[in-house]
Amino acid sequence: MNITANPQSTPINKTGGWRTYIPATDYNKCIGCGRCAKVCPENAIKMVAKNGKQIPITNFDFCKGCGLCALECPVKAIEMKLDVK
Ligand code: SF4
Ligand code: SF4
Repeated sequence: MNITANPQSTPINKTGGWRTYIPATDYNKCIGCGRCAKVCPENAIKMVAKNGKQIPITNFDFCKGCGLCALECPVKAIEMKLDVK
């Protein structure tokens, strides 16, 4: 049985129920730098324009809860929380 994901298959591999942590973004702290979107290994964060500034929107269908976005945010606007289902 082949259980290895193929290269560049991230956009079709939705996250299962195994995720432990989930990022919560505080938009009052966010400065719209886009670093979180750049470092997300799942390409789950998109920067979108809102009220004249760029804000990150996370697609939780693909977020794996790795915490890289929270680690790299320069103003600590992202907090990893337990993913309570
Ligand atoms: S926790 Fe990981 S997978 Fe989820 S949005 Fe942040 S960097 Fe991407
Ligand atoms: S890294 Fe932090 S400050 Fe920059 S866009 Fe993401 S949440 Fe906002």
